[in-house]
Amino acid sequence: MKVLFATSECVPFYKKGGLGDVSHSLPVALSHLGVSTTIALPYFEKVKVKRGDLICLGPLAIDYAGKRELVFVFLTHIPKTTVSVLLFRHPRLSSYDESTFLFFCLCVSAWYRLSALTGNGFDIVHCNDWHMALIPLLLGEQDKTLKKQVKTLQSTAVKTVLTIHNLLYQGVVRASTIRNMGLPMSIFEKIPSPEGGVINLFREGLEHADVVSTVSPSYAKEILTPEFGPHIYDALRKRHDPVVGILNGIDTDVWNPKTDEYLPKNYTKKSVTEGKAVNKERLQKAVGLPVSDDLLFGFVGRIEPRQKGVDLIIKAVRQLPKKSFQVVLLGTGNIKQMKELEHLDGQCTHISYIETFDERLARRIYAGSDVLLVPSKFEPCGLTQMIAMRYGTIPLVRRTGGLADSVEDGETGFVFDDYHVEDLCKIMWKAITLREDDPKKWQAMVTRVMQEDFSWKRSAREYLEVYKKLAPPRRS
Ligand code: ADP
Repeated sequence: MKVLFATSECVPFYKKGGLGDVSHSLPVALSHLGVSTTIALPYFEKVKVKRGDLICLGPLAIDYAGKRELVFVFLTHIPKTTVSVLLFRHPRLSSYDESTFLFFCLCVSAWYRLSALTGNGFDIVHCNDWHMALIPLLLGEQDKTLKKQVKTLQSTAVKTVLTIHNLLYQGVVRASTIRNMGLPMSIFEKIPSPEGGVINLFREGLEHADVVSTVSPSYAKEILTPEFGPHIYDALRKRHDPVVGILNGIDTDVWNPKTDEYLPKNYTKKSVTEGKAVNKERLQKAVGLPVSDDLLFGFVGRIEPRQKGVDLIIKAVRQLPKKSFQVVLLGTGNIKQMKELEHLDGQCTHISYIETFDERLARRIYAGSDVLLVPSKFEPCGLTQMIAMRYGTIPLVRRTGGLADSVEDGETGFVFDDYHVEDLCKIMWKAITLREDDPKKWQAMVTRVMQEDFSWKRSAREYLEVYKKLAPPRRS
């Protein structure tokens, strides 16, 4: 089984959020199941890779905006694995915006066709999020919702999977930009808008891909509603086959408190109490919090007001009694909300906000906090709650999407239902008092979360089943 895995991020080359982790761990886990996965990634300016680790496979000709452009394709591997990574280099692929991904979808489609011609064809093209959503259409896939054959494109009879990682971002582009692709405009669904018509890239993908999957069973149901799947839910409902929900995992080698090089002290299930105590003290010193045994809440994530629940955290920490807890937050994103966090940090000695993207500090927060806050409005899967558990940190989450599927209230974390500050306050207070009043029960919870298995093994098997149904193994 050979899979071409098209993505906009992949650790360790380029990461903005969870998609970067998934695009690393899933192909690695699939390789352990005998699936040969080749990752296709734009060679952004910010991609981290040593020149000596790259082999140039040659130029690829792409027609765009009326010109023939040469894109250089480089081969490398995910370090210490056999998973191949193709990096596509061209000035149009240096930054991260909509037109970059239109051009990149043309590159991936051209690579797919070229591979088939040279006898190295792929069985499946796995496209991730709106960035890659045009690939099924570009490869001539039939429209799955209207059962209309796209006659204007030559079909390659390819099998495609489109995975939704987050429907908040759908890739909406002006029809005039799409024209640069040199395709007949009649194959796109033009949505009226004040700018004179736009194309929703995600919607195009959902209408053409063979299988649509998403990153948790709960989110697979939620996105069939206008609230969670705006502009898209009707297209999903029209498909014959249901959206497949497969819970993401984490790479348990990458996220391991026993071997994590960034931690002041490594620890295991057995040494978690001493290990976390040292990491907590060092974290408090590093982020300017008083060294104290108060419950330390951590937050690691994008500062995204529409999703991550930072507004609730800001309100809740103002309402709770100061003396009983501390909070450390790490993240960048929305300027207004970052300013609010800075202001809060300036006002309160028990709150520390660090405005950056810092892998090392993120790991030290996972290890040094007592509880990780994930009060998201919605969360397709969420990785931070799983990483926290691996580090013996109890997650406090809202019951939505993958958070609902991975955390059990009272057993492996604290779960609240309604997106209200009172509800968050109540559950944060519950955590604070439980730790003070019943240390034994608390310790039992820490042990339990560390026993949870969120490795990719199970999820990778589920993806393999999807691939096999689409492209049954060939008989020799
Ligand atoms: P999303 O994909 O919505 O951003 P996830 O919970 O799925 O959220 O994944 C977030 C990933 O990004 C985790 O690996 C987390 O550690 C990392 N991350 C988020 N913000 C930061 C940051 N400021 N510094 C370091 N890592 C971060």
